[in-house]
Amino acid sequence: MARHGGAWWERLGVEDAVDEFDLEHAAITRRGPAPGGRSVRWRHVRMDRGGIVRPLTEQTIRASFRNASRKEAASLTLPPDFETLDWDRLDYLGWRDPKLARRSYLMVPGLDDDGGITGILLQRADAKPNARAQCSWCRDVTLPNDVVLYVAKRSGPAGRKGDAVGTLICEDFECSTNVRRLPPLAYEGFDREAARDRRIDDLRMLTAAFAAEL
Ligand SMILES: [Zn+2]
Repeated sequence: MARHGGAWWERLGVEDAVDEFDLEHAAITRRGPAPGGRSVRWRHVRMDRGGIVRPLTEQTIRASFRNASRKEAASLTLPPDFETLDWDRLDYLGWRDPKLARRSYLMVPGLDDDGGITGILLQRADAKPNARAQCSWCRDVTLPNDVVLYVAKRSGPAGRKGDAVGTLICEDFECSTNVRRLPPLAYEGFDREAARDRRIDDLRMLTAAFAAEL
């Protein structure tokens, strides 16, 4: 499996934390600070890029929330296109609740290859980002969609005290689509496929880091 893995952690400034990169098994073992200085342990980051959200059942979705009450999880409405989602092209699943204004949900796969998934309840914030805001996850420079501030309550006692984490991301969670578009030719000889693969890796790292922080 020919991969050019590695570049994403260098650009995230975490190369010191990389203990081992196993190209043959397409896995990386890393300990220490994750992106943004969060101290999280990462192991065996999957490097295949075929979409990592496996088809989820409604039951799994409702049972996966880290920062929602049982009542909130029970009251959510599934995405309207749930039955026809293209799971192979999703690095995470995100949707706005069709019935509850400002409420959205994320299903973020962990970086371990165990199929673990973290559900996150998001609240859309009033704050309007400036017109040139970039999504912090897909970092798309062509701005095909709006970017808004979403806030996630932390889990446990911190969340009960009102502690929350905000992030500027694509309004309708278009990140997986955005990173799969071939980027423009930046210079002669620019490897557009490699650049696209790196963006997919980055998206997975960043969403997993966000989930781990809650
Ligand atoms: Zn995005």
